[in-house]
Formats: sequence, C-alpha cells, structure tokens
Amino acid sequence: MLVAWLALSGLPLPARAAGIPDPAAIQRQMNAVQGQLRASQAKATQTRNQLAATRSQAASAQAKLNQLAAQLRSAQAELAQRRQQLARAQARLRQLRQALAANQARLVRQEQALGAGLRMTYENGVVSWLDVLLGARDFYDFVTRLHELMQIVQANVRLLRQVQAERRLVAAETEAQQRQVAQVASLTQQVAAAEQVLATRTAQQRVVYASYQQAAARLQAAYDEQEKESQAIQAQLARLERQYEAARAAQLAALRAAQSSHGAGGGGSSGSGAVNPRTGLAWPLASFVVTRPFGQNYDPILRQVQMHTGIDLAAPEGTPVHAAGAGVVFFTGWMNGYGNTVILVHGNGLSTLYAHLSAILVHQGDAVEAGQVIGRVGETGWATGPHLHFEVRVDGVPQDPTKYVG
Ligand SMILES: [Zn+2]
Repeated sequence: MLVAWLALSGLPLPARAAGIPDPAAIQRQMNAVQGQLRASQAKATQTRNQLAATRSQAASAQAKLNQLAAQLRSAQAELAQRRQQLARAQARLRQLRQALAANQARLVRQEQALGAGLRMTYENGVVSWLDVLLGARDFYDFVTRLHELMQIVQANVRLLRQVQAERRLVAAETEAQQRQVAQVASLTQQVAAAEQVLATRTAQQRVVYASYQQAAARLQAAYDEQEKESQAIQAQLARLERQYEAARAAQLAALRAAQSSHGAGGGGSSGSGAVNPRTGLAWPLASFVVTRPFGQNYDPILRQVQMHTGIDLAAPEGTPVHAAGAGVVFFTGWMNGYGNTVILVHGNGLSTLYAHLSAILVHQGDAVEAGQVIGRVGETGWATGPHLHFEVRVDGVPQDPTKYVG
C-alpha cells in the first residue's frame, strides 16, 4: 500500500509503496553491477592483449625454429653435394686405374714379345738382331725385315708414352682425390658439429616455443572465462533493468491508485511536505518514488554510469509539480534532453530546476509562492516513463537535492 509523503515528514526521502520493489535500490544494484562489468571487461581486455603478445612471441619462436631447420637442411645439402662430387671423382679414378693397369699389362706383354723375339733370333745361333737384318736374302728382304722391326719398336714406344701419360694422370687424379677426401672429411666434421649446435638450439627453442604455446593456451582459457563472466554480468544487468522497469511501473500504479482514492491528485498548493529549515525548500511532489539518485550512477537510457545532476522522482503523468520554495521564474521552455523545463531562482545563489514536464503553468518573470503549482509531471525529453527530474543548484553547481530539501 502507498505510504503518503505527508505521513513521512522528517525522513530524508519520500514514500514508496510497501511490498513493491524499490526502484532506487535496484538502481543502486545496477551501479554496482555496472562497476563489476567494467572491471570484468577491463580484465578481459588486458588478458586479450597479453594473449596477442604471447601469440606473437610464439610465432617468432616458431619462425626461429624454422630458421634453424633451414640452416640444418642447407648444411646437410652441401655435405650431400660434396659427397656426390667425391663419389664421381672416385668412380673416374677407378676407371683411370683400370685403363692404366690394362695398358701397363699390354706394355709388359709387348715388351716381353719383343724381347722374346729378339732373344729367339739371338739364341737360334744368329749373333744378334742385326743378324736378322744382315741375314736378309737380298736388299728387298732387308728393307722388309727392317720395316717390321721398326714397327714393333715404334708401337712399343707409343704404348710406353701412353702408359707414362696415364701414370701421370692417375698420380694427379689421386692427389686431387686425396684433397677432395680431406675436404669431405673436414666438411663432414663441420656438419656434424653444426648439427650438434643446431640440435641443441632447436631443443632449447622448442622449450621456449612450447612455453609460449602453453601460456597462450592458459591466457585463452582465462579470456574465455572472463568473457563468460562479462556476459553473465551483462545478463544480470539486463535482468536488473527489467526489474527496475517493473518496479517503477508498479510504484507508479500504486501512486496513481492512492491519488485517485485521496481525490485531489496529490495535494494542493502547499501540500508538498516538510520544509528544510536551512534552505526553505520542500519536495515538489506530494508523493513520488525515487527512481534514480543524484551523483555518479547507472543511466538506464545510456546504459552506463553517468553523472546525474538531479534526482528522478517518478509520479503519474499529470501529477502537479509544486515550487520547492518561494522565488521567481527564471526560465520556461524546452531544453535538450530535459524536455519542458522550469527554473526557479530563490535568492542566495539557490535555484531549482524541474524537467520532463507535460505542462508548464507559469511564465518567465512570474513570482511564485512556495508550493505553488508550476507544471505537471510528464516524460518529455530523454525520459523512460513519467517522472520529474529535479535539480537543486548553488551558484549554478548541481547539489544533491536530498541535502537541501525536506
Ligand atoms: Zn534525471
């Protein structure tokens, strides 16, 4: 049931229907939850940045691994190439040696044949191979014998030269091959050493890479967790917004019911409750529900924590708005966001502002009495549902109305 504001004089804040959730309390919860959401999102962002950094470290570790593998491959390729060269040289040398051996054998056979021929002639009782010549029957026979003899000698000389050339070639090739064998041996050693160094480095690099990968996995898991948490908080905030709307609507309905049962619609020209003895100001509505306090708090329209320069007093559309104190109308009209607005000045730098009005009932320059009806509650400008946005300012600086009114 509604508790009339008049019955609560002396309390800092006015009435709300008992048994129906308090929108201001829900609004405070929204403030807290919004704070949690910000913290959670900040944490998730930090984790995401760490994750990106760790992933790029893992990528550069991977690139280093690839580089090491490439170095190893190129060292091994060079060694393989040298080994092939050596194998070709060895095959060639084998061929050369075979050719040399064959020619040497031929030379020996021919020398033996020649020697044997000469010896045979000699041992057959003729004095010398000269006798072979001298034994010619006639000059023609002599010339024929000489020619045959010369051919045998010349063939032997050619073969001897060839064998000598082949011996030199084999010697040179053997020397060259020995150099190649030495080179390949040294290269094999170098490659083996390089392989060892690269294997060590690769093993170390794998550890580094794995640690980055693990860190990235951990961060990813943490990020997923934080994202889930943020989503849960957002869902909670959305639930609170719905509860807030429902509570506000229920409170307004209760106020409306109370007003119609009390007849006059919330009070006459002076019916707005206790007057603050220091400032002379009273609340501008006979009954209302606070839906958003003054200060840094959650704005249900912008859906973020925002400075609220006044206090939101929800009341049914058309509820009379009373001057909080005696003064002069400084401004009437439309203000961006505020909708239909009245500003009263009360002297000593004190002014009050009334926004989202559905009707303005005074004119600029009018003198108004305390409690005089100056307008009606509405939802013009940026408003969710009918309410009075009420501000108290000192020298133009917004103050918490609860410290100045009632
Ligand atoms: Zn407001």
